[in-house]
Amino acid sequence: MQLCFTSDPDDNLEPRSPILCFHHYLHCVSNYHHRRSVTRLICGDLCPMTFQSSPGRRPKPEDVFNLKCCRGCRQHYETLEHVLLQCLHVLEIVDLRHRFLSSVNIDPNLERSESHCFELLKSLLFSWDWIACTASFVNGVLKVWKNGNNIEREGEDSDEERE
Ligand SMILES: [Zn+2]
Repeated sequence: MQLCFTSDPDDNLEPRSPILCFHHYLHCVSNYHHRRSVTRLICGDLCPMTFQSSPGRRPKPEDVFNLKCCRGCRQHYETLEHVLLQCLHVLEIVDLRHRFLSSVNIDPNLERSESHCFELLKSLLFSWDWIACTASFVNGVLKVWKNGNNIEREGEDSDEERE
């Protein structure tokens, strides 16, 4: 499952070209690396290399849980919403999450279910007001997560501005 969308955030009118809207919407993110990270996330390009389970993943009878579970806590499916918003295993990510959620006035200490995390992540990603800081947070978590799991990094290396 991908976090794809067919219209602008907060726009209930008829869907227009997803490509055009996507381009326009992500221009709220001025940092090239942050924009690249969040674009890959929204396009579903981070699974299964970076995260072993797709967003919104629910148990299926044929699952081999060991191949799908979080490499941090080994208790939940390794979805991006789990790693970004729920898992407490990697302290550096917990710290990034705490600062990010506080900055957008969302309680960082609230315990959230997987489905709550999924909905929260969608609302953060598709908010015109929050997309820039969400993209920065995503980029920061990807760096930590990839380093910790020996996953090759692709463009998350720098926070420098580049257009
Ligand atoms: Zn975990």
